[in-house]
Amino acid sequence: MAISRPRALRLSVLALTLLCLSSAVRPADAGTEVFVAAGSGSSPVRGVVIAVHGGAGSLPEGSLTPEQEKAYRTALEKALRTGYDVIRGGGSSLDAVERAVRVLEDDPNFNAGKGAVFNTDGEHELDASIMEGRTQRSGAVAGVHNTRNPISLARMVMERSNHVLMAGRGADIFALRNGVAYTTQDYFFTQRRWDALIRAKGGQSATREPDIGGTVGAVALDGDRQLAAATSTGGLTNKLVGRVGDSPIIGAGTYANSRTVAISCTGTGEVFIRGVAAHDVSALIEYARMPVERAAATVINDKIPALGATGGAIALDPKGTLATPHSTAGLINGYVTRDGKIVTRLYDGETPPR
Ligand code: ASP
Repeated sequence: MAISRPRALRLSVLALTLLCLSSAVRPADAGTEVFVAAGSGSSPVRGVVIAVHGGAGSLPEGSLTPEQEKAYRTALEKALRTGYDVIRGGGSSLDAVERAVRVLEDDPNFNAGKGAVFNTDGEHELDASIMEGRTQRSGAVAGVHNTRNPISLARMVMERSNHVLMAGRGADIFALRNGVAYTTQDYFFTQRRWDALIRAKGGQSATREPDIGGTVGAVALDGDRQLAAATSTGGLTNKLVGRVGDSPIIGAGTYANSRTVAISCTGTGEVFIRGVAAHDVSALIEYARMPVERAAATVINDKIPALGATGGAIALDPKGTLATPHSTAGLINGYVTRDGKIVTRLYDGETPPR
């Protein structure tokens, strides 16, 4: 007998509850854990053309096995190289951030695309947004189920619709109609995210997992001095079905204006929305004439914690100054400078590995 979708969902919730009680697990898969070191904030870096992040979090340096560390650095490097190649070839910052984020969405170690966390019904609902600093056009998707690369769908919303934000089923259908790769929910599965859901169900709340690879984002500056920003996430583990965080909200999780800043945030989305975090950084630069590092620190280190949450951001100004403030003990990130030097940072205060 065929099981209808609502019934299948109810069954999966029941199954989850039983799993909580029995601590059973689904079959193993190749998930790897990421950890970042305790430490303070980071100072600004000059001459940057592209930067990416893989979520704000905190675990002591040395917590990573060499294999885990390699996996995270390799992923960041691949994303950075992909974006940098676009810029070096004379391409736009918009193309660069989309392609860099796609690499991280395809990597199971991050909470975006494959490897995304589960909601309370054991499903993946994905959020993403992208913004072009030159035109201030933007596109975003929320709660998509079957789109392999939500960031490319967000871009498609920007370029092929009259809308900025599309959600749920309509967004997935829009993806199908526009040739964005469609996939089943199983594609996004990883064992460690499933285990995290089981743990969260024990605590009965939606949780960020500050100690493991999280939301991803990218900011870039191209040869025409134009900025762009992009963010993609699975949101919070055990979030309510239909919950939308800051990542697809322009001005909260993502913002780009080529006269001020390109910024991608990570942290407890509800507070980043209430604090209009990403746009606030731009406004402080535009109206209060603050340098990017001060503007970003004001919002991320003062305002957001005062509203009750922690998190971080990568913020790049039109001169190529990169700020990476975080109120968590760390922020997984990396950047490429104009001369092609790639730096990845899993731990606060680490010296560039090469
Ligand atoms: N900001 C994301 C959300 O609330 C989560 C995160 O960045 O960890 O959906």
